[in-house]
Amino acid sequence: MAIVENIQFIEKEIEGKGVTLVAVSKTKPVEMLMEAYNAGFKRFGENYVQELVDKYEQMPKDIEWHFIGHLQSNKVKYIAPFVSLIHSVDSFKLLQEINKQAAKHNRVIDCLLQIYIAEEDTKSGMTEEECLEILQAETLEKLPNVRIVGLMGMTTLTEDEAQIRKEFKKLKDFYESLIINPQRRPNSSLNILSMGMSGDYSIAIEEGSSMIRVGSKIFGGRIYQK
Ligand SMILES: *Cc1c(COP(=O)(O)O)cnc(C)c1O
Repeated sequence: MAIVENIQFIEKEIEGKGVTLVAVSKTKPVEMLMEAYNAGFKRFGENYVQELVDKYEQMPKDIEWHFIGHLQSNKVKYIAPFVSLIHSVDSFKLLQEINKQAAKHNRVIDCLLQIYIAEEDTKSGMTEEECLEILQAETLEKLPNVRIVGLMGMTTLTEDEAQIRKEFKKLKDFYESLIINPQRRPNSSLNILSMGMSGDYSIAIEEGSSMIRVGSKIFGGRIYQK
């Protein structure tokens, strides 16, 4: 696998577009991540808490670790000391736990609210209504150790480009509505829209993504997919 070349190829594609690349390294060994690291790339996304903690312990400490998978409340404590951005906050209860664990480490943890945009009901996330409930000054004031910095969404698993585009557009429209409406603007700033993976990041960027999460197109296919 030409990991470094793959990253450079994608970085060239997104150059000047205000898009940040997160290399999704789940299931891949530390040696593969180190190839990217040694070429200067330091932003990785992981899905599983134990795997993330193992890699964090084995690798240099100037890496920006993103948690992108489904997060159980009882596991937040393991990643709270070091995680840079949690993309997958799907409930208020989880956000409360992140706040509690972040406080123990005197940290403010950046979070994205994962919004449910796919047609299939297997993908996790919250509805726009749940998101609006959380994004209220009174709610967020009680959670001083988390900062909501944006939204994340995953589309339906389909080859239908029009469907994918429609779902990304819906999330972008919702994101825009939050930004322009001061009543709905939290005391933290929304500036990240995390959408797009290996198969659909070009469409996601066309539809306004500012952060893409790319795994297999960098590190090759995975045996265990999730
Ligand atoms: C695995 C995963 C990705 C990356 O998927 P690829 O198709 O390999 O690029 C992105 N986002 C989430 C939430 C994932 O679980």
